[in-house]
Amino acid sequence: MADCLFCKIVAGEVPATVVRETPRALAFRDINPQAPTHVLVIPREHYADAAALASADAGLLDEVVRTAHEVAVADGVAEGGYRIVFNTGREAGQTVFHVHAHVLGGRGLGWPPG
Ligand code: AMP
Ligand code: ZN
Repeated sequence: MADCLFCKIVAGEVPATVVRETPRALAFRDINPQAPTHVLVIPREHYADAAALASADAGLLDEVVRTAHEVAVADGVAEGGYRIVFNTGREAGQTVFHVHAHVLGGRGLGWPPG
């Protein structure tokens, strides 16, 4: 998608600190981390949000979630616990409309979320 920041990261047109790559997914560190581990996992293909991805390609959603877990293991936060967040829609705080799983860990995470 021409004007999508995360499509540009997939294409290598915008730099990112990539921590994991799979055939169909990419994981990179959030530019404004909210926890010691804060990684975004995206499908290489463009879908606006998690629901669109789940409807179109459930196997690809699996790959995103599996990759999120692999990132948590690699960062050493899987055992203590981590959170996978798909902000979906404006009121939930979604600002980039290329679906992304936030992987957050490495500190106590409050509940309910703000
Ligand atoms: P959301 O608000 O759920 O749509 O999440 C978008 C996330 O993308 C935010 O946490 C931003 O800090 C992050 N972000 C924005 N631009 C970049 C970038 N160039 N590289 C890495 N993360 C980014
Ligand atoms: Zn995109």
